[in-house]
Amino acid sequence: MAVTWETMKIGVLALQGAFIEHSEILRRLGVETVEVRLPADLDGLDGLIIPGGESTTIGKLAEIYDLMDPLRDFAAAKPVWGTCAGMIFMAKEIGVDQPLLGVMDIAVERNAFGRQVDSFETPLEVAVLNNGTVRPFPAIFIRAPRLLAVKGQAEVIARMEDGTAVAAREGHWLVTAFHPELTNDDRFHQYFLNVVSNSGL
Ligand code: GLN
Repeated sequence: MAVTWETMKIGVLALQGAFIEHSEILRRLGVETVEVRLPADLDGLDGLIIPGGESTTIGKLAEIYDLMDPLRDFAAAKPVWGTCAGMIFMAKEIGVDQPLLGVMDIAVERNAFGRQVDSFETPLEVAVLNNGTVRPFPAIFIRAPRLLAVKGQAEVIARMEDGTAVAAREGHWLVTAFHPELTNDDRFHQYFLNVVSNSGL
């Protein structure tokens, strides 16, 4: 049976980083939200968001709390969206050694925008959000990663003006290098919730 926004339950991995902001947007959209810290917190969830923060810290804490295999099993079955550090954590390849879920067929470079431009905001054209009309998404980048390669079934869904790939989707997995939870624009959250409802069909 299809899950609808009214009945779905979305988890936000709450080990470190901007998890509260994601939960607030989900609640504003009327979706039941659960903070995930232990494997049992994944029970009964229809989808999961892995927030931005520090991917090394998120990975180490996930290992300490025995979450790595439960998170991989969850991701195999259900939609997962990683923002920023969450995108790094979901990638198969990042070129450095740190604990990763390693589910998505993407190669990611950490801290790809250099020290001078630690954070910036830029309007992004994201075709999947626009529904035929062009309304750029206000993308906030904070010591952000970028997509170096998108392989197999994965596809790029947003690029910066210079062509840098910053968001991708592979089946029920979504990654964004930027932070939709730090804006008032909830279109990316809505997009993810639609992935969740469609995957329940
Ligand atoms: N630079 C961080 C990392 O490598 C990600 C930054 C963020 O999530 N805002 O994990």
